[in-house]
Amino acid sequence: MRLLLMGPPGAGKGTQAEMLTEKLQVPHISTGDMFRKAIKEGTELGKKAKEFMDQGKLVPDEVTVGIVKERLVELDCKNGFLLDGFPRTVAQAEALDDILDELNMELDAAVNIEVPREKLLERLTGRRICRNCGATYHVIFNPPQVEGKCDACGGELYQRSDDTEETVANRLDVYAEQTAPLIEYYKEKGLLKNINGDQEIKEVLKEIGEKIGRDLA
Ligand SMILES: [Zn+2]
Repeated sequence: MRLLLMGPPGAGKGTQAEMLTEKLQVPHISTGDMFRKAIKEGTELGKKAKEFMDQGKLVPDEVTVGIVKERLVELDCKNGFLLDGFPRTVAQAEALDDILDELNMELDAAVNIEVPREKLLERLTGRRICRNCGATYHVIFNPPQVEGKCDACGGELYQRSDDTEETVANRLDVYAEQTAPLIEYYKEKGLLKNINGDQEIKEVLKEIGEKIGRDLA
């Protein structure tokens, strides 16, 4: 099974990726891991990627695509893979198609986890952290016993600037804007599987299974 996994921040993509790779017995290939591996192993492309990153620059598509290709030819991808975080643009999606053509592989589905914006905001802005011991809470999903106070040490809980409504809303807008063309691309190819991410974790997995034709329950 060769899958792409897409979904906005807060959609629970990481959790689903973990369960999917275990159930389907395919490697989870995230862009971040791939870059770290290429850099650690000192491949030519890894060295190139590092140069850009060290300068605080965006790694160009040709390097990223090369690293994806290096990864997909590895033995553990023979029976499939779960790509996460790549492609991000239509240009990258086209490049991925070329790579797969070359390797005589076909994508089975682009799984897109959808969660209403309001719910994402609720999930992403609810985190609170203890100033004293660093324990984390969520105002809805994991609230402290006393509002604003750490259960473990009584310290004051605060909201990180990354978690404020303004920052989160902006992140969601950027994501939606960037991925809209990509979603359209896979829809046109008949590969897009929209999944309702606003339900229990197990139900999300079950729905993915139904839509990709595998029993994941
Ligand atoms: Zn604490």
